[in-house]
Amino acid sequence: MPRRSLLAALLLAVLGSGAAQVAPAVSAVPPVSSLPAGFSVPAGAGDSIYPALGTPGLDVTHYDLSIRSDPRIDTLSGQAVLNITALSDLNQIALDFAGPTTSEVLLNDQVARFAQVGEKLLILPSTPLKAGTRFTLGVTYQGTPALHLDLGLRLGWITQDDASYTYSEPDAAHTYFPCNDLPADGASFTLHLDVPAGYTAVASGVQTGQHSQNGRTVTDFDLPQETATYALGIQVGRLDVVTRPRAGNVALRDAFPTDTPPSVRAPFARVADMLSVLTGWFGPYPFAVYGVALTHDPQLLALETATLSTFPAREQGEEVGLHELAHQWFGDSVRLGDWSDVWLNEGFATYAELLWAEHLGQDSRSLLRRWYTALMRQAARPLVATAAPQLFDSTSYQRGALTLHVLRLKIGDASFRRVLQQYAASYAGRSARTADFLNVVREVSGQTAVDALQPWVSSPSLPPLPRILKKVLART
Ligand SMILES: [Zn+2]
Repeated sequence: MPRRSLLAALLLAVLGSGAAQVAPAVSAVPPVSSLPAGFSVPAGAGDSIYPALGTPGLDVTHYDLSIRSDPRIDTLSGQAVLNITALSDLNQIALDFAGPTTSEVLLNDQVARFAQVGEKLLILPSTPLKAGTRFTLGVTYQGTPALHLDLGLRLGWITQDDASYTYSEPDAAHTYFPCNDLPADGASFTLHLDVPAGYTAVASGVQTGQHSQNGRTVTDFDLPQETATYALGIQVGRLDVVTRPRAGNVALRDAFPTDTPPSVRAPFARVADMLSVLTGWFGPYPFAVYGVALTHDPQLLALETATLSTFPAREQGEEVGLHELAHQWFGDSVRLGDWSDVWLNEGFATYAELLWAEHLGQDSRSLLRRWYTALMRQAARPLVATAAPQLFDSTSYQRGALTLHVLRLKIGDASFRRVLQQYAASYAGRSARTADFLNVVREVSGQTAVDALQPWVSSPSLPPLPRILKKVLART
């Protein structure tokens, strides 16, 4: 997502729906006292920022989601089939799930005992599952997606303005489907979205089918690349789906609410040029399709939902579109191994704005100056975050981007391009941490390049601008 300003956060807090100001009532881990006999308190997967989310020892490889919804009401019914590999022996399977009520769980097509407590769905296999076992879980559910607030935003499955859409970063995908809700565990997806006549469903991935019956339409989507749960984008509304000419192998389609004026659609027109510029730096675009989906909410912050970035319905600069497109490489294809490393998403997408500005022949020095000035005004910290409020601060964005620029000045454009391409290719469909990126830097350009980055990565204070950059900025 783009860097959120304090003003935007305040606006959201003040203007958001009344309900959005109510703190969520459930906690991620259920108390022991609420558990039925036989179930145990699940351990979270141990993410540094969201330790209660996810389950250690679970690898979900695929989600097949059938979601029946109606933008006029805020309930949905769903059926999720998860393909899972047990990475350790499991006496109990714990998924993140808050909101709709589960009515049935099938483990390898056999009815299984389950409990839905707190923000967890717990399932008891009849006999413990051994490490290495592959199994399927089918979950049937119906109800209202949980109201989920984090970082001053309303997240999850949102129904308003005659539309429904997903907006789940960082931790809200489990408000509308049961999942292992951490980017470290990505999965492929197939979707079957069942909506009333007059509405259109669009989603991450390639549309593979559609049929209508009894006043409803089911549309199918396939996203074969392993992607984070929060990055799954779905939108249901009265939409105008616009197909653009393909850009090489990449199909292009956008979804605009039918009343979207041309001035709001305009910033997305140069997507083919943007793809070409970013491909030149990052390597091949990692998916088969790309486009944007606009919501009616003018306050929303853009979000890099995979292959179908989500945007607010207001006039905005082209650089926001560019930023979310860059996330398709860094955030969606290369996933976070831990939320504390979010600069690997945001620093890279912010730096892409400079690459685009250079392509347009603009003076990138003003951007560099603005980034450094913004950082001087904030309390400094190392790049790796230690708490949720830090995730989307200027360190993740601008210090992350400046770190990449320092690297580029140190090793030159050709090596910098090799670092970006090798990192994007090596970790496509996988998760990465800060050390993984530094290892790629070391492989391409040696330890001296890593050493040059260390103050920018690790120092608790803001490093002074390197002399070479100072000179560049001093030039008029
Ligand atoms: Zn971003």
